[in-house]
Amino acid sequence: MSLPGSPYLARAGADLQLDGCSLDELAAAYGTPLFVYSQRAMLDAVASYRRALAGRPHLLCYAMKANPSLAVLQTFARAGCGFDIVSIGELQRVLAAGGDAAKVVFSGVGKTRAEMQHALQIGVRCFNVESQGELEVLSRVATAAGRTAQVSLRVNPDVDAGTHPYISTGLKGNKFGIAHDQALDTYRRAAALPGLQVTGIDCHIGSQITQVAPYLDALDRLLDLVEAVEAEGIALHHVDVGGGLGIQYAGEAPPQADELVTQLLQRIDARGHGHRELLMEPGRSLVGNAGVLLTEVLYLKPGATKNFCVVDAAMNDLMRPAMYQAWMAIEPCRQREGPAPEWDVVGPVCESGDWLGRERALAVQPGDRLAVLSAGAYGMSMASNYNSRPRAAEVLIVDGRPMLVRERERFEDLILRERLMPPP
Ligand SMILES: *Cc1c(COP(=O)(O)O)cnc(C)c1O
Repeated sequence: MSLPGSPYLARAGADLQLDGCSLDELAAAYGTPLFVYSQRAMLDAVASYRRALAGRPHLLCYAMKANPSLAVLQTFARAGCGFDIVSIGELQRVLAAGGDAAKVVFSGVGKTRAEMQHALQIGVRCFNVESQGELEVLSRVATAAGRTAQVSLRVNPDVDAGTHPYISTGLKGNKFGIAHDQALDTYRRAAALPGLQVTGIDCHIGSQITQVAPYLDALDRLLDLVEAVEAEGIALHHVDVGGGLGIQYAGEAPPQADELVTQLLQRIDARGHGHRELLMEPGRSLVGNAGVLLTEVLYLKPGATKNFCVVDAAMNDLMRPAMYQAWMAIEPCRQREGPAPEWDVVGPVCESGDWLGRERALAVQPGDRLAVLSAGAYGMSMASNYNSRPRAAEVLIVDGRPMLVRERERFEDLILRERLMPPP
């Protein structure tokens, strides 16, 4: 089988390599579980968007919840990207990584007053407002702070992104965004409220989208609104089509970013909106295929109905299979000869849902290392300490050289904020 995902992933003989580095050697050097990312793959992904956006006013805002590690943020900040954030913690990470607050858009359905205050003080580029209630609160917070909040309304275009229900966000009955038929009224309200400056419109219809059509449908719905809003004298500077572009986990063939952008721009031009700044919020498509999770085989448990391959990575390290029943490719770091029976690859966590892959044909022995592919997005960012498991270390390959960018957590980190009761 060919390797899905990154062109930087290849076999040199039996040895699986990412960006020229032997994954088996990295696992031996840094221990497992270990996330390894190729910076080149991330920059290539940015370049694909940029190719199609060249010469157009635009801002790529990396949706950092996909992978918020500081070195990853630094990579994108140095490439000139902005950031899509969903909490103040994420804004603090952007600043810690040297990112520019003036290129930050603040999304999320549940921004608190304290978060709004903080973001206004630091000076984010705009708030993607998701409800009428949030709009009223933002107006009050901004007025009290003597600031003006730049506002974009996140509209729910009611289009089906054709993806998993947990990661579909653009349909009616979904908690995200302002219903399309209420958006015009909400814009009128936004224009009338003190402390607010209407600046744009946005949407985000879901994740792991593998077709262009849902984007074009959503864009049309947005542009309809832009026209209606501007007819009332409320100017909209930018259009933000969100993120959600899919990557290859198995046989998917999502459009390349430049192909998606080209089609979006064609539609924007055809409808006479070419002068507007285009914002995008890609997350997964910038980092997903750039990374792998390495794990070591602990035990093999052949059984009557199922064979289990127990590895040292678990659902706390990589939630996607347990949470979304996601299929992620699993490859031996060093291929061995011999029979390849089917294994359920499972972790040590005390949950039956703790699996990384099911019914995978693998020639493995205890002590072998496996790579879970396309694990650069929503891997480390969703990791937890469930079962008191320290979170994994992270290595970023920069110009072909591995750099440890996050140490493995230690037990002391896990109990740092806890307090024992006084002696009885
Ligand atoms: C998660 C998210 C994104 C990024 O989604 P991907 O599927 O990772 O590209 C963009 N915008 C918003 C508002 C999000 O919540």
